[in-house]
Amino acid sequence: MSQVLQHTSLPGDVYEAMFAQGIDGFLLTSPDGRIHRANARACELLGWSEAEFVQLGRADVADLRDPAWAEAVAVRGRDGAYRGVLRLRRRDGSTFPAEVTSALFSDGGSTRAYVFFRDMTAAESEAARTAETRRAAAEVVDSLESFSDMYVGVDADWRITYINAQAEARLGVSRDDVVGGDLWECFPDLLGTPIEEAYREAVRTGRPVTVEARYAAADLWSETRVFPLRRGGLGVYFRDVGERRAMEEERERLLAAERRARTDAERAQHDLAHQATHDDLTGLLNRTGLAEQVGTVLDRWPVAGLTVLFVDLDRFGLVNDSLGHAAGDALLAVAGRRLADLAGSTELVARFGGDEFVMVMVDASAVAADRMADAVIAALSEPVETGARLAVTASVGLSSSTVPADLDTLLREADAALHRAKDGGGGRAAWFDEQMHLQSVHRVRTERDLRLALDRDEFFLEYQPAFDLRYERITHVEALVRWRHPERGVVPPLDFIPVAEAAGLVSRLGEWVLGRVVEQAARWAHIPGLRVWFNVSPQQLVDRRMPGLVAAHLARVGLAADRLGIEVTESTFADSSCMAEVLEQVRALGVAVAIDDFGTGYSSLARLGDLPVDVIKIDRSFVQDLGTARGEAVLSSIVTLAHALDADVIAEGVETLEQLRALSVLGVDSASGFLLARPAVAEHLPMALPAAVFARPRLQMHPSVARVPRELRVRGVQRSSR
Ligand code: C2E
Ligand code: MG
Ligand code: MG
Repeated sequence: MSQVLQHTSLPGDVYEAMFAQGIDGFLLTSPDGRIHRANARACELLGWSEAEFVQLGRADVADLRDPAWAEAVAVRGRDGAYRGVLRLRRRDGSTFPAEVTSALFSDGGSTRAYVFFRDMTAAESEAARTAETRRAAAEVVDSLESFSDMYVGVDADWRITYINAQAEARLGVSRDDVVGGDLWECFPDLLGTPIEEAYREAVRTGRPVTVEARYAAADLWSETRVFPLRRGGLGVYFRDVGERRAMEEERERLLAAERRARTDAERAQHDLAHQATHDDLTGLLNRTGLAEQVGTVLDRWPVAGLTVLFVDLDRFGLVNDSLGHAAGDALLAVAGRRLADLAGSTELVARFGGDEFVMVMVDASAVAADRMADAVIAALSEPVETGARLAVTASVGLSSSTVPADLDTLLREADAALHRAKDGGGGRAAWFDEQMHLQSVHRVRTERDLRLALDRDEFFLEYQPAFDLRYERITHVEALVRWRHPERGVVPPLDFIPVAEAAGLVSRLGEWVLGRVVEQAARWAHIPGLRVWFNVSPQQLVDRRMPGLVAAHLARVGLAADRLGIEVTESTFADSSCMAEVLEQVRALGVAVAIDDFGTGYSSLARLGDLPVDVIKIDRSFVQDLGTARGEAVLSSIVTLAHALDADVIAEGVETLEQLRALSVLGVDSASGFLLARPAVAEHLPMALPAAVFARPRLQMHPSVARVPRELRVRGVQRSSR
């Protein structure tokens, strides 16, 4: 339906004013597009003067590529009016959006159209901006939704403006319930947490804040980043870092475990090192530790000289045996403490095992060392209360040297000096001197050679016979070992047995002796009642294999046990009860046991009764004392006591006829010595009394003694005294 606006009656000058001053452009046109009038605003917007407009048509001011134009013209034609946005063309060809209102009217018979138009450029770009903003906002929301982080937005009044899906899910809330709500009311568990602090700090400072904290209500360890928003309020991103934390904790736990393991290992290492360098009982250094420390001292300080004090408790073995190892250990521990107390900052104290202690003094004068040795002896002689009251004395050997000093040499020298101090009766100190030095060099060489001697078959045995003083017959022979040294010639046992003992070689040597002795005894089996004695060192008796070894060798050569005798020194019984036990087992085989060198050792006559022995061999020194009244009295009491205990008495080292006579008068059963026979190899052994002794007047027997020699008694043959 075509509609034409009716003329309204406004005064003509009003129209004219609207036309001239309207803020919209105004054109008066014909429906065919010709332009009849244009106001000032239209001229301004389109760039033509009114005079020029009259020359123009629609095509000059419209952007006809815009299909909206055709539409607009059609609408106006149909409805009589159009209102919409069309693009207009300026004089310079550029176009712009305009809101156009146009209507047809009749002007005195002819149809005209007026066109109002308004530049919409600014409005359009504003709309575009708004649309863009909306689109961007939607994009942000989309991305917030697809984000793996959780997000919550709040406004300046702590109202929740937004919460993303992740946050909903993880916090267990619904968007509808919380958006618009107060943050602290929706999530009261945030209060008092570092997260609350972060929110408030971001608000206060206007700067982003990051915090890692636990949100207990959701069992959530979160890393929270709070951003102040430009429009006020906060954007809060947070993510679950529980897994990372768990991994970190696990890593921390592993690291801690590793650290602990490392510390344990280090401690164990340290303990091991400590154990390797220290003595368990006293906590003092051991030999290795001492050497190490001395090395360190020499490396670090300008040292001029070292002094070694070798300390040894006198008769410690007795304490150990009689009171037990616990008492012995207690005594050693106290001794160690006392030595440590005596040592100053520069003295090193060590225990070498047993009752051997060593102190090393750095740059000590001889006087200072003497004073220290005296102090050591005094300190160690103080009684020790360990249940029982133990009193021992101590001996000290000293040696010193300027640097370069060899600790081993100093120790050996101090040890040698110690032995001299002990030989002097103990409880004293002695210095090592040049002669001792030579001795120790000699000792070292001997030890070296000894190690080879057995393999090189350099040992041999000599035998010395002993004779029954009543029946003037050979009763036994004693095997004595010798060493044919390639350079030194024949070396007597006292020159090498102690060295072999100290070097731990005596057991092998002893076994060799045992083997040879049983073989020789078997060769002499045809001589009635002949017993072969051999000497053993205490060390051999510590070895519990000894009885078995003797039995095995007897069996090997088929020798009766009563053809064998074993000689031990008195100290064997003093040192250890274990040796007495081993000896008892040997004796139980039927092998006789003799105490050698009786009277030179520790045991008193009173102890004689306790010793499990068959024969007492009186030391040569008593035989030499025979001329004196005291000597004879001692010998006489030994003989009486031995006989009372059913033991035979043999005197050794008889060199004169007078001695032999005196011994015979005293009732000694048998005798040996150079007068009767020197030791000789088996093939050269005299089996009868020498003619010179035969030629003498008959030996006069002690009247009180009418005993039958053990060998004869044992075989049950009774013979009357001649
Ligand atoms: P011993 O068992 O007391 O042996 C007696 C020592 O006195 C022997 O010395 C012997 O040669 C010596 N002798 C014998 N009659 C006389 C004499 O009339 N005058 C003098 N002045 N001396 C005499 P030898 O052979 O030098 O042995 C010394 C010590 O060595 C022995 O003393 C014994 O304790 C030990 N010995 C010898 N052989 C062995 C052995 O195979 N093993 C062990 N462990 N020790 C042995
Ligand atoms: Mg002997
Ligand atoms: Mg002897």
